[in-house]
Amino acid sequence: MKASKTRQRILAAMVRWDKDHALAECLAGPAECNGGVIKAHSIQNAVILESLADHGEVFMFRHDKSTLLKLQRIGRKRASVFTGFCQYHDTRLFREIDFGASVRFDPASDRQRCLLALRAASRTYWAKYNQMLFNTSALRLCRESRIGALQELLNLDTNDAASWAKYALVRIPPRLLGVQRAKARLERTYKSLLHQATIGKYHLFDNLVLSIDSKPVAAAAEVFNPEFDLLGRRIGTTQLNEDVADVACSVFYLAGKTWCTMSYHRRFKDKLLGWRNQFEGMHPTLFGDVLAKLLVIHFENAAFSPMRIDKMPPSEVATMEQVFRTTINGAVPYTSVPHLHLFDGYT
Ligand SMILES: [Zn+2]
Repeated sequence: MKASKTRQRILAAMVRWDKDHALAECLAGPAECNGGVIKAHSIQNAVILESLADHGEVFMFRHDKSTLLKLQRIGRKRASVFTGFCQYHDTRLFREIDFGASVRFDPASDRQRCLLALRAASRTYWAKYNQMLFNTSALRLCRESRIGALQELLNLDTNDAASWAKYALVRIPPRLLGVQRAKARLERTYKSLLHQATIGKYHLFDNLVLSIDSKPVAAAAEVFNPEFDLLGRRIGTTQLNEDVADVACSVFYLAGKTWCTMSYHRRFKDKLLGWRNQFEGMHPTLFGDVLAKLLVIHFENAAFSPMRIDKMPPSEVATMEQVFRTTINGAVPYTSVPHLHLFDGYT
């Protein structure tokens, strides 16, 4: 009992750290930066989050008081924000995908698809970068046995900081290696997309755009790594040095449809060919099933409409939460996940 309480306090401290010590740096700078680093939305606030919101709130997976990850309401002003751009770059880079009366989504626009992927990639890259900074500084303090500084870093009492240090010395080094590798990979994806957006040529990435007729259900922006195809077959190998395919994905509701745009570097063309064909050959009604699973299995940065979640039976919401928690630390094939009813008949 005591051990699990300690674990809960430590986890809560790490969640706090993420919030209080988040990296605040413009990923498009430093040239031309202006207006200071802001809380930028990785999912457009006006129009996209607004379409989902009820009383200004949406649902996201968040830690509750006992640090269990559950679907909880959050103000849309705070949903999906991150401190990864200055005012100038956030406005300048994304104005062509800030949808509204004068900016329409054109599924055939290379530029809009690139910018949607860039926005999704920037948030995921920033989160991984943040995770790397945390693990690096925490490990340094543990190795130097600086329990006082660790206590301060995590805002823990001395006993909890000492137990955390013991655990961290064993657990952080292998994890840090993975985090560093993922950060380097995401940096490459992010910079390739930024380069395309800057020069206005879109030759490096392949795109897939799908949609389903629906009411407002969900929105998301994240990079994910498809490890299995839609039939549950592994994509690539499990080798440590494998070049994992990053897919930058945006999900958003506009004018009677939920759109899903996916972009990946052309070097993954062959690796993702079978997976891509499965999406392209899919009956539109089946896409709702796949999209619901995709959102829950692969996304942390996803918002759901309270109008939808509140209408679902509690057991279905619990299933979504259960699937989210089981898949947070490892991929599972779509085929082994129960049907999620997010889009069923919701048109
Ligand atoms: Zn900037």
